[in-house]
Amino acid sequence: MERAEVLIAGAGVVGSAIACALAERGVRDVCVVDLDLAGRYASSELNAGGARATWWQEVNIAACRDTLAFFAEHAADLSFRRTGYLWLYSDRALFARARERGALQARLGVRVDLLSTSELTRRFPLVDRNLGELLGATFSPGDGLLNPNALRRLYQERAIAGGARFLQRHYLDGVELSERSPGVRAVERVHFTEVAKGDPADESRAIERILTQHGVDAEAALGQVSIRPGIFVNALGAWSPLVSARLGARSFAQPVRRQISILDVRARDLPAGVDLRAAPMIVDASGIYFHPEGPYTLAGYSNADEPPGYRFEYDGDEFFEREIWPRLAHRCSAFERCHHVRGWAGLYSVTPDCSGILGRVAGVANAIEAHSFTGRGVMQSHAIGRGVAELICDGEFRALDLSPLSSERLLGPRERWLPEDLHI
Ligand SMILES: Cc1cc2nc3c(=O)[nH]c(=O)nc-3n(C[C@H](O)[C@H](O)[C@H](O)COP(=O)(O)OP(=O)(O)OC[C@H]3O[C@@H](n4cnc5c(N)ncnc54)[C@H](O)[C@@H]3O)c2cc1C
Repeated sequence: MERAEVLIAGAGVVGSAIACALAERGVRDVCVVDLDLAGRYASSELNAGGARATWWQEVNIAACRDTLAFFAEHAADLSFRRTGYLWLYSDRALFARARERGALQARLGVRVDLLSTSELTRRFPLVDRNLGELLGATFSPGDGLLNPNALRRLYQERAIAGGARFLQRHYLDGVELSERSPGVRAVERVHFTEVAKGDPADESRAIERILTQHGVDAEAALGQVSIRPGIFVNALGAWSPLVSARLGARSFAQPVRRQISILDVRARDLPAGVDLRAAPMIVDASGIYFHPEGPYTLAGYSNADEPPGYRFEYDGDEFFEREIWPRLAHRCSAFERCHHVRGWAGLYSVTPDCSGILGRVAGVANAIEAHSFTGRGVMQSHAIGRGVAELICDGEFRALDLSPLSSERLLGPRERWLPEDLHI
């Protein structure tokens, strides 16, 4: 029987950040287990690479602020650049609330400039259409963009340098609990099916099958592995509810597909004075967001009627023509002529208040959950890793009080929820 002082399920950006923080606190026996260390279906590899601290809840603002500071320290490794986030408003109530939240953001050290429509068009001539609809905008110059794949690699390299091990092709399919004292159980063993290495051409499909059907076919199974953890951490992202259920914990999160398109605008088609490469991350009043991505533009939009589920199909030209292009061309003439290059889909793990879940699992002595950070897992990852390491090593959060993120808030009255309306 294998043992691990800390066993982390999930090697996405969250599990990797936790392993990194633990290794740097001197915890030597950390084991991180994942079905696919390449992260082909992990949200950490399929996101938009945006990082901002302009949220409405103190805990989310502070966790993002501290993570942005970490990104700035490692800017070269992470291709982190403070391009800023420009947020356009047409909804009166939302804009009023954004202005009101500006005071809290400022108190927490996050700069947010309020722009009138005329300031907006002067500073960002890219935004040049249907301006009469807009009430104004906010611009947060400290926010930015990074390469999330490089981030996950950085956390993993630092974790490995500190002694952590990462197990590949292990699918978690069982948790055994024991009763430590009346009403308090503990994770005794975690069971994994080791998955055979497949033909490289088929491997991606095989992984997708396991992650969407939630099990390993008998012919792909090499054998069973059990690990006895000192502490068990559920960092399985959109798959975490399946393990919460095994821990007897109530699960609040749901996986929801989000799609991203990459498009190409030829420089010769741009209006005079517009350089797309210098654009910030822009979130339009219509809900579409876009930013430069190398020579291309990356744009994402979340369908309001997307049903929950584990789905990874990208709807291709149909999605681009129905959801992306009309909204871009409505706001910026630069996108009047553009080419759809490609796109992809990944999972958001969405909670009822759109804030993440972090803390001890009630009634299970040695289990911690760190998941469901909706569209915020990358930009909060450093603070999450540091916080879980503090919980394990010091018994409490130290640098930042992350206790409001405990899932228990969702059992209580709505006043304890942490609603985030600027959720894209
Ligand atoms: C389209 C899109 C855009 C986004 N944009 C942003 C953004 O701009 N900024 C931002 O901060 N966040 C963004 N996000 C959200 C962000 O990507 C996630 O919050 C974050 O990556 C979650 O990381 P994670 O480690 O919790 O989960 P994941 O990265 O999903 O990792 C979970 C891991 O668990 C493994 N796994 C699952 N089940 C099992 C099992 N039973 N056994 C073994 N392994 C298993 C998977 O292989 C995977 O590697 C976006 C997400 C999407 C989909």
